[in-house]
Amino acid sequence: MQVSEQPILRDLVLVGGGHSHVVVLRMLAMQPESGLRITLICTDIDTPYSGMLPGYISGHYSFDEVHIDLGRLASFAGARFIHGEVTGLDRSNQRVLMKDRPSVPYDLLSINIGSTPNVRQVKGAQAHAVPVKPIAHFNLRWLNLLERVRLLRDRFTIAVVGGGAGGVELVLSMQYRLRSELQKLGRNPDWLHFVLLTAGDSILPTHNAGVRARFARVLKERHVAVHTRAEVHQVAPGCLHTRDGRTFDADETMWVTQAGGPAWLQGTGLALDEHGFVKVNDRLQTLDDPKIFAAGDVASFTNRPLEKAGVFAVRMGPPLVKNLRLCLRDQPTVAFNPQRKWLALISTGNRYAVASRGSIGFAGTWVWSWKDWIDRRFMRQFTELPDMAPGAAPSAAPASSLALSAEESRQAISAIAMRCGGCGAKVGASILTRALGSLQPVERNDVLIGLHSPDDAAVVRVPPGKAMVHTVDFFRSFIDDPYLFGKVAANHALGDIFAMGAEPQSATAIATVPPGLESKVEDLLLQMMTGAVEVLNAAGCALVGGHTGEGRELGVSSFSVQ
Ligand SMILES: Cc1cc2nc3c(=O)[nH]c(=O)nc-3n(C[C@H](O)[C@H](O)[C@H](O)COP(=O)(O)OP(=O)(O)OC[C@H]3O[C@@H](n4cnc5c(N)ncnc54)[C@H](O)[C@@H]3O)c2cc1C
Repeated sequence: MQVSEQPILRDLVLVGGGHSHVVVLRMLAMQPESGLRITLICTDIDTPYSGMLPGYISGHYSFDEVHIDLGRLASFAGARFIHGEVTGLDRSNQRVLMKDRPSVPYDLLSINIGSTPNVRQVKGAQAHAVPVKPIAHFNLRWLNLLERVRLLRDRFTIAVVGGGAGGVELVLSMQYRLRSELQKLGRNPDWLHFVLLTAGDSILPTHNAGVRARFARVLKERHVAVHTRAEVHQVAPGCLHTRDGRTFDADETMWVTQAGGPAWLQGTGLALDEHGFVKVNDRLQTLDDPKIFAAGDVASFTNRPLEKAGVFAVRMGPPLVKNLRLCLRDQPTVAFNPQRKWLALISTGNRYAVASRGSIGFAGTWVWSWKDWIDRRFMRQFTELPDMAPGAAPSAAPASSLALSAEESRQAISAIAMRCGGCGAKVGASILTRALGSLQPVERNDVLIGLHSPDDAAVVRVPPGKAMVHTVDFFRSFIDDPYLFGKVAANHALGDIFAMGAEPQSATAIATVPPGLESKVEDLLLQMMTGAVEVLNAAGCALVGGHTGEGRELGVSSFSVQ
């Protein structure tokens, strides 16, 4: 964890650890913003790099080679990493709503959550098809399929629905890998059959005729049955039905089509396109809210349609970080002008790839080697993180250039003064009252004075004939998620009580929180104490009081009695 000397002045929240945000994090690490607290929230801890996914399926790369460790990258950028799922936005209070944990405040927000194949619109698809996203779920199903195929004794058909680059690469990569697995085991690879279905007139509709013809040839040579104008309208166990009445065998169905934005975006009030993606202008700002940006697949670029491809998500990273910085300084943002023609390197699974750019197309094993070189070079930016020179680390960052109101500047100055330990470095009473007021510790009859009616000290009754067991712990924060940290600290304190064979009754907490604007300190305290109180409540232990001070790092201790 990097520790900042600067008070926390602004919150930038990055929702989703997609291709744009990994670039943003790296750039913010290389050139930190003083006073900016960055929080990355993602359902994945390891985020996949799309360019290498087909190579992973083919068996050319390991899991680690195609994934970026978001925890490590966030730590490198001095950002907090919350491993969790965003379920909505409370835009009037500028908070990100989370599944199973407190909401997270933002001053500036960026969304880079990719797209989700929409299996809900087709009957049976949710139950019987495997959507290729989220990749973490897909990977589990893929590993399961590998095991099933290794045990095969008979004919087995795999259908891929979707004739874009993703679908074509997936079917060829799976075929290469699964046939190799059977060959290695001395079994008959011809038990495996592959079908590619697309509703369109041709595969790869956004690529030139030469590239389409080349792939049609490869698929034919590899005995992949391609069916165009085959719109799947029902998925059943063991088969697929198309709208025109055809039925296809499918022991396993992979879904690589009809991508859309997740349902929770509908409730945000942000303008969405017909697929549920967030509409953005050429500055990557949402049309309704200049404090909210979106990038990657989830962004619907209103100036002109962009292909949903990792390459655009990556390219949006630098303009996104630039505009986030400008926005934090209250300066006008700048336009992103994506290129009209772009190079796609599409692999055929067997270390061979086809290059496609506008009307140009060429192919070969050397194209695959070239792609491999480009992809590995990209990944090295995130796996081989440079050592930060002491002067470049956020802890030594210069005075903040973030735009603040007069009141915020006053609070920032007093937060800096607080670092010297003046005023006992105590957190202000109004912050405490607000943060602790929303906690709901369990009520117990033997707690005479606790947080429900706070006083200078708590008073608890010791039941006759019982002894008191005292314990105290103190942790410097070893994780940057305050809610999780509160839970860990409370569990640790309870562990000592249980180890003594005692029953937890009440707890006091000493917390240190880094200095910042009042709202930032209040929220940090609330997140940490909410985590602690949830654990204490589950054990029937009442939080009865404590002390909160400001320090360089987050820390908490609990003192429990019976
Ligand atoms: C088989 C296949 C092969 C492909 N090959 C290529 C290729 O070679 N080149 C190319 O350019 N494109 C390729 N693509 C397309 C590419 O995968 C996408 O365009 C790209 O991943 C989009 O990147 P992104 O940054 O928008 O989001 P993603 O990379 O999808 O990342 C989004 C992240 O946000 C997280 N997230 C989602 N919802 C939430 C939530 N509610 N709360 C918190 N976190 C959340 C996800 O878990 C994920 O980590 C391929 C696609 C497929 C299916």
